[in-house]
Amino acid sequence: MRTPFVAGNWKMYKTVAEARHLISELVPGLQSIAGVQKVICPPFTDLLAAAALLEGTDIGLGAQNLFWEPSGAYTGEISPLMLAELCQYVIIGHSERRQYFGETDETVNRKVQAALSHGLTPIVCVGETLEEYEANVTADVVSRQIHEGLAGLSLGEDQVNMPLIIAYEPVWAIGTGRAATADGANAVVADIIRTALADLFGDEAAQAIRVLYGGSVKPENAREFFQQPDIDGALVGGASLKADQFIAIVQAAVP
Ligand code: PEP
Repeated sequence: MRTPFVAGNWKMYKTVAEARHLISELVPGLQSIAGVQKVICPPFTDLLAAAALLEGTDIGLGAQNLFWEPSGAYTGEISPLMLAELCQYVIIGHSERRQYFGETDETVNRKVQAALSHGLTPIVCVGETLEEYEANVTADVVSRQIHEGLAGLSLGEDQVNMPLIIAYEPVWAIGTGRAATADGANAVVADIIRTALADLFGDEAAQAIRVLYGGSVKPENAREFFQQPDIDGALVGGASLKADQFIAIVQAAVP
């Protein structure tokens, strides 16, 4: 029912020349994989070149952040209007932005609203820190992030192509090599995230929205996550910078 979705978060890696090289390695392998939506999210400076290289392929393009105003005196910021010319997706509320750049549930909410109103599909990241995990408050944290980050949204009438993707990324699993267990991640998605989505948008929408897992996904563990009933794909960081690894992860998502 939900098409698998795998996105690569390149973080602050790859100059334009390096991005061109990686995309030239990715395109042949990814193009031949059907049944999975695949997206790369390079830094802003790579988007123009990436958009040109991906034209005519079935590989989507996303940014890693945006500001909520369409234009104005906001030095250093990038608007949804600008991104909509180049890409289809945008990551919002990644834990690195929450940790280092003061992102809050309120700013996530403003950014999600702005993305949707410019036709961009947000990939909204939620997840508990190690301290929160150890204090056993994952349910409270993730439920709050969904309720507050997505408050007041209108997702439109189309219940099949929901323009919203959630990534459950336990912070302690990001870039650490310590992935969550597949059934543990599935339980958070099923019991906490889809329940919160149902509170906000109704049961039908909660079942239609794709929810990804992110945190140390590699070719070796990807299939285990994708076999879980409530996990619809992955947001991949480190392994998305290696063409062979990212292609293998996308391949593992084929239903
Ligand atoms: C990420 O950056 O969203 C991520 C999940 O990173 P990694 O795959 O490297 O853990």
